[in-house]
Amino acid sequence: MKKILLLLTLLITGGTLTMAGELNQPFAKGEINPYSQYFTGTTHLNRLVAKDEVFNSSIGNVTFEKGARTNWHKHSGGQILLVTAGEGRYQEKGKEIQILKAGDVVKIPPNVEHWHGAAPDSEFAHISIEPNLPNNSTTWLEAVTDEQYK
Ligand code: MN
Repeated sequence: MKKILLLLTLLITGGTLTMAGELNQPFAKGEINPYSQYFTGTTHLNRLVAKDEVFNSSIGNVTFEKGARTNWHKHSGGQILLVTAGEGRYQEKGKEIQILKAGDVVKIPPNVEHWHGAAPDSEFAHISIEPNLPNNSTTWLEAVTDEQYK
């Protein structure tokens, strides 16, 4: 009976949500984001690959609750986002907001001011790759206002 209920739940939700209502994503959600002061709303970070002198990259899984997003910011060495679950948003300063879905790849050039986060009505997860370490630092700027986000 339990197996049937689980199957029904997965069918109804299209496999997007688990029974607990958590976003179904390939990597664990991890801890509350230690950089939360640079974000609006609740986000989680799971550090997947620490920086080292062989790969010169830092890779982490970032999970955003509905409506959560980064502040405006820029990366001096650029950033690559691999979208794994949910629906998200991405915007470069002066350009239109883009809708992000699982399978999307976003290449953010060095020093381009931008933000990324969840859609207002969907959780969202992406893998963040910071390449070119140690010559890649993040400059955090002002929060994305509700007017800019909507
Ligand atoms: Mn970024």
